[in-house]
Amino acid sequence: MTLTAITPVTPDTRSVCASALAQLRPGEPISRDAALQLIRCSDDDLPELLAAARAAKERFRPGVITYSRKVFLPLTNLCRDYCGYCTFRRDPGDPGAHTMTPDEVLSVARTGETLGCTEALFSLGDKPELLFPEMRETLRHLGYKSTLHYLEAMCELVLRETSLLPHPNPGLLSAEWIARLAAVSPSMGLMLETTNVSLLASGKAHDNAPDKAPAKRLRTIEDAGKQNVPFTTGLLIGIGESPEDRVDTLLAIRDLHDRYGHIQEVIVQNFRVKPSIPMAHCPEPSRGEMLRTVAVARLLLPRVNIQAPPNLSAPYYDDLVDAGINDWGGISPLTPDYINPEKPWPHLEQLRLRTEAKGFALRQRLPVYPEFIPAVTAKPGLLSERLRAAVDDHGLAKITRAA
Ligand code: SF4
Repeated sequence: MTLTAITPVTPDTRSVCASALAQLRPGEPISRDAALQLIRCSDDDLPELLAAARAAKERFRPGVITYSRKVFLPLTNLCRDYCGYCTFRRDPGDPGAHTMTPDEVLSVARTGETLGCTEALFSLGDKPELLFPEMRETLRHLGYKSTLHYLEAMCELVLRETSLLPHPNPGLLSAEWIARLAAVSPSMGLMLETTNVSLLASGKAHDNAPDKAPAKRLRTIEDAGKQNVPFTTGLLIGIGESPEDRVDTLLAIRDLHDRYGHIQEVIVQNFRVKPSIPMAHCPEPSRGEMLRTVAVARLLLPRVNIQAPPNLSAPYYDDLVDAGINDWGGISPLTPDYINPEKPWPHLEQLRLRTEAKGFALRQRLPVYPEFIPAVTAKPGLLSERLRAAVDDHGLAKITRAA
């Protein structure tokens, strides 16, 4: 597979970026034109862009950066897609191919509970049984018709048997499956990644990844919006898209949030190269590209939670605070990042110290953000009970252990 390198950020004239920054209005989202100018701003203009983004973050979430203390549950790493940057997926029979049993799920969740975790993040390949008879056999053996039926049962198991709250990330979902999973999890997620359809072409990052068609992903996010389901999404930068594509991906998310108000969080994730992937020789986005993208995300979405994973920007991850994030995402004291296993999460004490050094308090949130909790607790049942038990007076995680 030949993969196209990312389009480099080209220096722009100082006056164009300065004029885009001069048009900023506190609390108001910037226009597409301004975003396009700012995402290509010069190094000279970068400090001014970052200052504007950090100020916007402070108007939205003053004084605090949050994270979710989680366990990572890779329910199955079989996947019918073959994304050019993925190290997680396996075919049946590959070394490391695995579908977790219910006992394994419960064991990890219970251990996480003893470590103060409040999120059970279910990450898994997209509908592997459609491609692999081996997965159909595994599911038959487990007693389920599909991976989504099994996921639903495992979310329900974790909810019933532990204090953890599930957050599933199973790929594309129909409206019916969004409703079913929303009954056993307070939020769910699907990365939009990009709106650039050309990445589906031969030799590009989403060649042979039918579930990465942007229109299908937008439909799932929209269906979640129609059902008022708190939803995590985001973009993946450095997979062959241009800075303009990044802006348009953020605008597509903003458009859905304007219509349905359900986007609880936007993740800006940077591609990291790994030796075993088809994109092994593609360049990673630079630190400057990452900071520009995060800052523009903050200014396009001034009242939406913006997250960037610290392990993918180590050792300089605290710079992301300067670009306007208000959340570090899920951090596990127990399980590795199975998506980027070579990039360990920072120790939580380190994360706290570095967040405080930037002038912010670090607070543990739940997998559903405070402003979305009332809609979930309004529906009676086990999920509502568990969420009420886990939340503190500020909508964050009730801490029942030594911090
Ligand atoms: S990124 Fe997700 S959809 Fe793509 S191959 Fe990996 S597990 Fe499958």
